[in-house]
Amino acid sequence: MLGKILLLTMTVSMSLMAQRPTLALVMEFPDEVSPAARDEFRQETERQLEGAGVEVLWRTPQQAALHESFHRVVVLKFRDGCAPARTAARGRIPALGRTFVTDGQVLPFVELDCHLVQEDTGTGQCHARSAACAERLGRALARVAAHELYHALTASGVHDKQGIMKPSFDHQDLCGTELSFSPGAMQRLRRSLGTAAEGATAYSRSF
Ligand SMILES: [Zn+2]
Repeated sequence: MLGKILLLTMTVSMSLMAQRPTLALVMEFPDEVSPAARDEFRQETERQLEGAGVEVLWRTPQQAALHESFHRVVVLKFRDGCAPARTAARGRIPALGRTFVTDGQVLPFVELDCHLVQEDTGTGQCHARSAACAERLGRALARVAAHELYHALTASGVHDKQGIMKPSFDHQDLCGTELSFSPGAMQRLRRSLGTAAEGATAYSRSF
């Protein structure tokens, strides 16, 4: 459980209010994900989380182990890497991404299936060579990540009829120009992050 910090002095309170809560996204890209795809992934993820009131910090697993503190932490990993032109290794229920649940508890671990995303976006053959194709892959992966991050951060399996919390994505959702959290979903995310109101309570959690 998260612990509330008691703000003892006005000075401390004001400095915390000026500082947004931090959300560390801990991940390592497979070598086969191109720099252009990585950049687009980070930019699109941050764009999706723009209204959540948190500062997104990117960390590798090695960096995250250096006793740095964050308000919230989610670990993302790629299932079976992201090699281009590889046939998607489909599980029993093919899913573009998933959030781990143990004993009914939603855990802060997200897994992305790059091969399925490549298949659904037509980027399996081209992402390593074409910047436009790499951006398409990075953007699509980020949308899947944003969907799963919502589950991880709200500890909820709830879906919406519209926006990024739809239960499934089609090609347009992954590759189109418009897809984001609905106002209701963003509000629920902000409540979970403690950023729903001015002067929201600050939370602390060490990785
Ligand atoms: Zn979902």
